[in-house]
Amino acid sequence: MPDVPVLLLSCEHASNRLPREYRPLFRGCRSLLAGHRGYDPGALSCARVMGRRLRAPLIASAYSRLLVDLNRSPAHPALFSARTRALPPEEKRRMLARYYHPHRARVERWVASRAAAGRRIVHVAVHSFTPVLDGVARRADIGLLYDPSRRAEASLCRRWRDALREAGGELTVRRNYPYRGASDGLTRHLRARFSPARYAGIELEINQNLLRRGGARERLAVVLAATLKQALSG
Ligand SMILES: [Zn+2]
Repeated sequence: MPDVPVLLLSCEHASNRLPREYRPLFRGCRSLLAGHRGYDPGALSCARVMGRRLRAPLIASAYSRLLVDLNRSPAHPALFSARTRALPPEEKRRMLARYYHPHRARVERWVASRAAAGRRIVHVAVHSFTPVLDGVARRADIGLLYDPSRRAEASLCRRWRDALREAGGELTVRRNYPYRGASDGLTRHLRARFSPARYAGIELEINQNLLRRGGARERLAVVLAATLKQALSG
């Protein structure tokens, strides 16, 4: 069945670790690294469960977004954090070569190889969001982010939302919330490289309130996987 899409999962903010060489730069930043500005808590373990259930590969980052943000394009002002922004250009180029480009290239190569084989690719980038940002409470459990001008992405997210609402009971599912899917990010970069006939890029955003406890997190990941499978076959 050549028209069945192949699924790739990625996790750009999976880890809050730092390479040994950059640890001195973050001395005294333990709580910053441990919080939502350091990484997406719960996203990696959720993505792993989804990957296993869906038999999909997962490409996950190894280091904190405070080093360099894998979900920002090279020209974006927030590519580097307050801790790394002032580093000399040569140092930043080295950091990009070691810790930024390899992840993005791995995802892109995976998509390119399947596209060259004539397959359709659905890429789900798994993220989590803080329940309260700058004093404002977010009013959603799950956000599905996509580019509204790409019809395949819009209809996949509609089917996924409907399946989640049916399966998840009281889960509040919103589309293009708390961010817009067409904003700067890895999926937007890939949309520019691959046609809508080949590539659909979705960002799954999960409220960190739902990911704090292992049992609940695992159950949610199972529901997310089952409903995504349902949406993909619809
Ligand atoms: Zn994220």
